[in-house]
Amino acid sequence: MNATNPQHVERVKNAIIHKLIFALGCDPKEATTLNWLHAAMRVVRDISTEGRLETRRLTLEKGSRQVYYLSMEFLMGRTFSNALIAEEMYDVIKAALEALGQNVDDIINAEPDPGLGNGGLGRLAACFLDSTATMRIPAMGYGIRYEYGMFRQEINAQGEQVEMPDNWTSHEIAWPYVRPSKRYKIQFGGYVQEEGNRTLWHSADEITALAHDYLVPGYDVNLANNLRLWTAQAGSKVFSLADFNRGDYFAAMEKQNASENVSRVLYPDDSTTKGRELRLRQEYFLCSASLQDIVRRHEAQYGSCDNLADKIAIHLNDTHPSLAIPELMRILIDEKGYDWQQAWTMTQSIFSYTNHTLMSEALETWPVDMLGMILPRHLKLILEINEVFLKQVQERYPHDHDLIRRVSIIDEEGERKVRMAWLSVIGSHKINGVAKFHSQLMVKSIFADFAKLFPERFTNVTNGVTPRRWIGIANPQLATLIDDKIGGTWRKDLTRLSQLNTFADDEAFLQQLAHIKRNNKQALADYVKKQLNITLNPDAIFDVQIKRIHEYKRQSMNVLHILDLYYRILENPDADWQPRVFIFAGKAASAYYMAKKIIHLINDVANIINHDARIRDLIKIVFIPNYGVSLAQMIIPAADISEQISLAGTEASGTSNMKFALNGALTVGTLDGANVEILDAVGKDNIFIFGNTIEEVEQLRREGYSPMRYIEQDAALSHIVQQVSNGAFSPDDPTRYQDLFSPFGDYYQSFADFHAYVEAQNRISEFYRDPIAWQRAALANIANMGYFSSDRSIMDYARNIWKIDPLDDIPLDSEALVERINKPSAAKPYKT
Ligand SMILES: *Cc1c(COP(=O)(O)O)cnc(C)c1O
Repeated sequence: MNATNPQHVERVKNAIIHKLIFALGCDPKEATTLNWLHAAMRVVRDISTEGRLETRRLTLEKGSRQVYYLSMEFLMGRTFSNALIAEEMYDVIKAALEALGQNVDDIINAEPDPGLGNGGLGRLAACFLDSTATMRIPAMGYGIRYEYGMFRQEINAQGEQVEMPDNWTSHEIAWPYVRPSKRYKIQFGGYVQEEGNRTLWHSADEITALAHDYLVPGYDVNLANNLRLWTAQAGSKVFSLADFNRGDYFAAMEKQNASENVSRVLYPDDSTTKGRELRLRQEYFLCSASLQDIVRRHEAQYGSCDNLADKIAIHLNDTHPSLAIPELMRILIDEKGYDWQQAWTMTQSIFSYTNHTLMSEALETWPVDMLGMILPRHLKLILEINEVFLKQVQERYPHDHDLIRRVSIIDEEGERKVRMAWLSVIGSHKINGVAKFHSQLMVKSIFADFAKLFPERFTNVTNGVTPRRWIGIANPQLATLIDDKIGGTWRKDLTRLSQLNTFADDEAFLQQLAHIKRNNKQALADYVKKQLNITLNPDAIFDVQIKRIHEYKRQSMNVLHILDLYYRILENPDADWQPRVFIFAGKAASAYYMAKKIIHLINDVANIINHDARIRDLIKIVFIPNYGVSLAQMIIPAADISEQISLAGTEASGTSNMKFALNGALTVGTLDGANVEILDAVGKDNIFIFGNTIEEVEQLRREGYSPMRYIEQDAALSHIVQQVSNGAFSPDDPTRYQDLFSPFGDYYQSFADFHAYVEAQNRISEFYRDPIAWQRAALANIANMGYFSSDRSIMDYARNIWKIDPLDDIPLDSEALVERINKPSAAKPYKT
């Protein structure tokens, strides 16, 4: 569609009015910003819906294989702006809204940003759905439509995190399709009974899963995939009309509320499992609803499940949905009548699994007793899977009894537990890590035994991010500059960015890059001024660390550097210091004491340094509350420095490291996760790598790591730790940070890396003095990040794991698109 064609604009304008009146029942004269948003969304959704029907038609017609991506988290970000980019309707909608007296950016920003995830794992799922649609891979995401997603973070006057409920669904009407016909019964509890060679599960209670469909349009294709999110509804058994009629409203409602709790809240942490029983129910709820839906759809097309393994792949985003493995076994055996071995062969060739962490405390386990109480049928299947598997192991290694103990799905030490990662490995034909480095460590550490048993199953797919959102929407000025220089094809083939390397000596171009960065920094400074009343100098180095607050990510080491700089400036005020703005954002899990303390420290330190007249604004520190996708889109394009400073061996991949480099920030980072591959891509002169390698980290651990040693050797570090511990930054509560930099703690070895980190930061400040050299390095980052598109990740998955070919689709031209506005479907009808 063409914003310079007045007929196109007129047509879209009329369509918006039409939606406002007849879809939303609003008088245009009284319409609010949200009403306009919803009306415009409905216009775009029509286009995406046609793409969705076309995708279904092609998939059915060709009998294509398709993939189902199961994830407890999807951090989708705002829908409207993304759909506008995908359908290439931004300009025409902007013009139409302008003609109606509305500003498109105000309307885009009025949309709530649903927080159905904690961080990287959920955002990865969102980038992947975007890329499946764009790469024409038939795919469907399955997740939970939490009524309360991630909490809204506020920072109180004391500088502490306060968690507020985020009731994001209250205004959500325009984008999802509710599917009242797609309901499934989810059973819990009860007991199992053997009857001949059949097993019957007599459940104790049940709830209903109801589908909400969120279209995910591909970019520059006439296709859309679907994200299906489930909500829980109390089953008819639960609401007691008898109680209600008797006037016992409490009893009637309480049962209903209790069962609908399953889709009430997102657990605010993806690395520990709290509120365990409800979390287990949530996981099963997702798995059972999705598997029933998958099998129903397959049978509707093919009449039986005999060819199920030929036609579908199911991918587990971490172990959270791994109950899908016994759930598929249950359906195939108990409901479809396959024998155990047939069902197992199908299951193993259908599932694949992505591991996201090597930290043993983050590996999911469930007490055998709890699992047996909530899911007795599934526990029985898991025990059978384990028995069959251990028998095979025993045959291959008859004398290695310790191996049996180590690889058993059941951890027999102490309280018996089911190891979900083991179940996922045994039930999948492919298991991947999320960056080269992580995948190599994975087969050497947690999965070493399994890698010996099934070496062919283990592989790597390095993560990626979608360039549509992370450049196209987040950094429109950069997108336009790139378009001007090399055309627009980079949006679908990010490796094209390498053509920008020819501009490395073009000073005018480098100036343009600098200018865009300056504009983005100014826009962020304006936001911070408005929200927090803190003034930021856009000519300072913007040094940014935004991610979940976690000890392993070492936000506290960042603070150590800030304090080092602070004391050095005080000591030598007249030196030629390079001004710095330190930007933090991120949520701490509500029960994670240390992470919350780190937020408090950042704000306490900010409060003192920002107001210390002797510093003369050479340092500014700001913690921007309520980190999420929308905030990331604003902060990342404004960054000069990307902080990726996790202890080597702890961050599986990271994806914000990719978003930053793609937007021309230089990384200061450890040899961890995808930093290793980013270093290879951008070259060692364009990135600041520091700190101990994993070998050195492990060596220190073996020797018995001694934080005291570093304090004794480093006067500056010793002074900083002393000051913080003695309350220099918390005069209202001098003992507040006594336990933070304890010389007996420091599990993540910040002290060991401190010196190298400060040195790297000093090199950065020196380098920043040469603006042209700096921009040349920024360009080397942008131009050489093409590999880190999630389109490439998805094609890796499609070829090597899912074995799915792209659909053939015919993109539409803008005349054909405009014909579709507010018309009955132009899509070809289904073949019946
Ligand atoms: C990209 C992204 C993440 C992942 O950040 P890491 O620094 O890689 O952990 C988390 N949250 C949001 C909102 C993101 O956009």
